[in-house]
Amino acid sequence: MNIVLLGPPGAGKGTQAKKIQEYYSLPHISTGDMLRENINNNTSLGIKARSYMSRGELVPDELLITIIKDRLSKKDCESGFLLDGYPRTIPQADALQMILTESDRKLDAVVNISVEDKELIKRLSGRRMCSCGASYHMVFNPPKNDEFCDLCKGKL
Ligand code: ADP
Repeated sequence: MNIVLLGPPGAGKGTQAKKIQEYYSLPHISTGDMLRENINNNTSLGIKARSYMSRGELVPDELLITIIKDRLSKKDCESGFLLDGYPRTIPQADALQMILTESDRKLDAVVNISVEDKELIKRLSGRRMCSCGASYHMVFNPPKNDEFCDLCKGKL
């Protein structure tokens, strides 16, 4: 199964991705997680991506396309993948189409999670993120300490 998961921030893509990944035994490819990992490891990609992410902007398409092309060529994607957070722009979608066509693959499903704006704002305004990838919600899934990550003790 080759699946793309779409939806605005706060739609619950991460939660659904975990379930789909377990059900179909697919590698879960989250571009947000990959970018954060690069930032934490201070790679040249991470250094380029950091300034965009800290401003809440999208990272330029050419960087994302390079990351995804490389990731989808790995052995564990041969029997399927679950894309989460990619594509986010038309050029990224076009590039995905090209990568898949070149390797004689196609998408089996695109799942778009839609949630009302009011609900998204409620969820996102309570969200706290850690650079290790953990995420919390001050009402639905609060950290033990308001400001620090339960897992790595980093600042949220
Ligand atoms: P969110 O859903 O809250 O935006 P993500 O973890 O999916 O969280 O992404 C975090 C950040 O990483 C985004 O705000 C953006 O800066 C960058 N990013 C992730 N995926 C992409 C993408 N496909 N294109 C451009 N930037 C991306």
